[in-house]
Amino acid sequence: MPFTPLHLGPGLAIKLVLRDRFSVVVFAGAQVAMDVEPLVRMLRGDAVVHGPSHTYLGALLVGVASMLIGKVAYGPIARTWNARAAPALPTAVGWAAAGSGAFLGTTSHVLLDSLMHGDMQPFAPLTDANTLLLAISIESLHLLCIGLGAVGAVGLLTLATRRERRSRAQTR
Ligand SMILES: [Zn+2]
Repeated sequence: MPFTPLHLGPGLAIKLVLRDRFSVVVFAGAQVAMDVEPLVRMLRGDAVVHGPSHTYLGALLVGVASMLIGKVAYGPIARTWNARAAPALPTAVGWAAAGSGAFLGTTSHVLLDSLMHGDMQPFAPLTDANTLLLAISIESLHLLCIGLGAVGAVGLLTLATRRERRSRAQTR
């Protein structure tokens, strides 16, 4: 964490840039996968909450798992979404989009978390230092995530609306 949902903000901004080469669904799954370890440790009352999963090495491993699970789980998730909400999602995800969603998801998670959690050792086992800790204030970090999310959401909605208008014009 910072609060798993806040991680989605940067994901929406990345989607705006990478479009079809990036899956927000897999990215979101990767955020949840990353925070399984802290959740379990919190419930157990461990002194260190952010362990091996919150290192860049751990992020690569969680990234592989997120990519594989995301590639398989994407179809059912997209079909469920399409039955209830808009804009419509493609019903399958390619390896490139699943991979970028998973690995950008897990590595950006470690980067953002390393700014605010004193128990993290993001570069372990190379060093136990966390050089970025409090490089920016926690308030700024949260505002950054929310801001990126807002920019991404508005941009993506604009694109989806334009696409829909264009396809409606073509069918006329
Ligand atoms: Zn986390």
